[in-house]
Amino acid sequence: MLTQNAQTTLIPTARPPLVQIGPIYTCPVCGQQALGLVSWPVNPANPCKLDEWAAHIWYLRRKCGCRSRGRVARLGDCITPLEFTYDRSLTYEQRVEANIAALRAALALLATAEPVGAQAHPLGRGDTGQGGSNGNAP
Ligand SMILES: [Zn+2]
Repeated sequence: MLTQNAQTTLIPTARPPLVQIGPIYTCPVCGQQALGLVSWPVNPANPCKLDEWAAHIWYLRRKCGCRSRGRVARLGDCITPLEFTYDRSLTYEQRVEANIAALRAALALLATAEPVGAQAHPLGRGDTGQGGSNGNAP
């Protein structure tokens, strides 16, 4: 039964951009602006392997009422929908592994989408902002 991941390599084409760059996010279902993000709830009484990834698993808070596609992978200000498997033919461990794999893939996608400005460029514009003017006007 090697049917796993047969679908994860399919790239949807008729959908809004998969990657959103915050801090404002919209519902991937209806496009309405989301209220914000809440992080993966780590429950010390019920530890999960996914807790290690808590910094990258978030949920859209929405007032539009859409229920699907609320889970996202997050890297910096970039998010993308994150689908977890609930395949009952898999063991719990297998599902966790599959979900971690999905998260890794999502983070890899986000890494390519992260805005260039988010990282300091050594050959950039030289010294920036040592006090002084804010550079409002040249
Ligand atoms: Zn919605």
